[in-house]
Amino acid sequence: MENNHVRINQLSRKARIIWGICLAAVAALFFAGAICVPFFFESQTLRYQLGTARSMLLTGHIMGTAAGLLLLVQMILVCRSRFLDRVFAINRLLLFHRINAIIILVLAVAHMLLILNTLGSQILSFEFSQWPEYTGLILLVMVAGIVFSGLSRGLIGIKFQFWISLHRVFTPVAILLLCIHLYCVSNTFRYDSAYILIICFFAACLLAYFILRLKKLSVFRPAFRVGKIFEAGKNIYSLELAPEKDKAVVYAPGQFAFLKIRSSAISPEEHPFTISSSPTRQPLLQFTIKDSGDWTNRVKEIKAGDKACIHGPFGIFGHINFESRDEIIMIAGGIGITPILSILRYLHDIKSGRKITLLWSNRTQKEVVYADELNNIEKSMTGLSIKYAFTREEGQNKNRARLNRDGLEMLLSGCSRGSIILLCGPPAMMTQVRKDLILIGFSGRSIIEERFSL
Ligand SMILES: Cc1cc2nc3c(=O)[nH]c(=O)nc-3n(C[C@H](O)[C@H](O)[C@H](O)COP(=O)(O)OP(=O)(O)OC[C@H]3O[C@@H](n4cnc5c(N)ncnc54)[C@H](O)[C@@H]3O)c2cc1C
Repeated sequence: MENNHVRINQLSRKARIIWGICLAAVAALFFAGAICVPFFFESQTLRYQLGTARSMLLTGHIMGTAAGLLLLVQMILVCRSRFLDRVFAINRLLLFHRINAIIILVLAVAHMLLILNTLGSQILSFEFSQWPEYTGLILLVMVAGIVFSGLSRGLIGIKFQFWISLHRVFTPVAILLLCIHLYCVSNTFRYDSAYILIICFFAACLLAYFILRLKKLSVFRPAFRVGKIFEAGKNIYSLELAPEKDKAVVYAPGQFAFLKIRSSAISPEEHPFTISSSPTRQPLLQFTIKDSGDWTNRVKEIKAGDKACIHGPFGIFGHINFESRDEIIMIAGGIGITPILSILRYLHDIKSGRKITLLWSNRTQKEVVYADELNNIEKSMTGLSIKYAFTREEGQNKNRARLNRDGLEMLLSGCSRGSIILLCGPPAMMTQVRKDLILIGFSGRSIIEERFSL
């Protein structure tokens, strides 16, 4: 087996599916139990309602309980659990986190409207006694602010780091407001068992939040020193990190980690980058970073000897979980080569005899990194064929084409339609390539993608 060469703690596809179903079933049971709370522990406001008013109020309570519970789920989704990453992959969990935020907002608005519709005249007053209701309203405004600013961040030009910092400050405040609102607004949680439930809920939320914050503290992360930094291509820099305590990080080729540099040259933000080295070349870690924004354009100022720490590895992109006899097609666009570089280096080091085709599209030749190393790998691996495409350059033997349907059909003419396809590049290119691959006869299920956005 190809993955016997290094210690790699990833789950097989089958194990991921089984764990996925089990976890989804547990979550569904928990959710079903929680939304029964308004039935089992009836609020006094419900007792005096009849007919439609009663149904609306009860539905409002259920919606509110569901929104509160999903807020707890949010904490679990972002807590960067390695186990959950192995089962679902962190980028899917974060996608679900964003969808879940919208669901919470819809449920919370429905909760408010249904309750106002039934009890509006009783609770819509500016008396001090109504403060628990107003905590709910503040919470709703906060959730709406986070959702809308998150959705329109790109459009209104809010910087990611500023937005994420605000989001992090809001989180414990939101949990606190939710618990106060839940406990004080209705009589439901005056029942002993419901009171215990709300306390457990509050404790679980805070625990999840503090575990997440604790895990992010650098003291709990493997410490590194920058060994080498060099320009590997046009505006692309490679950083080599050596562990301070000679303790190797266990990772699979194709995985990524959150990197933090402690240097006066660059802010101590965390950013996700693929580990472009191979686990066969431990204990050094390499990151290959393209200058594409506020943080990455300062990477060139990092100096050898600067401190660094990483959180990871994460991600399930790669070839590891497929049979070693499967043919592999790798398609990269620009800096999307980094996970593929790690996989190729690994397959080279373990002397894999697999049939592999790499298609790598760049704007110009200047963006090609590690050209000599790739040439040498191609020469020593009989099954490997590397084909380059340049979209803004003409030259000898260079396919001046996008990887469009015709280009792909020609370049992949000798490849089995049952191949595994590893795809990583700019989002628009990936969407188009996926469509074209399916049109020329490859199965969508065998296309494995890595997106450089969380
Ligand atoms: C799984 C994964 C692997 C990646 N691998 C590589 C790689 O090998 N090489 C490479 O050059 N780039 C890689 N990237 C992209 C890299 O993370 C971004 O280019 C970088 O974070 C941009 O930061 P910036 O401040 O320079 O740019 P900005 O312009 O500030 O950010 C551009 C966008 O990057 C995202 N981003 C920024 N900071 C973060 C953060 N801390 N956490 C999550 N997302 C953030 C946001 O969506 C933001 O809108 C990878 C991204 C992901 C998700």
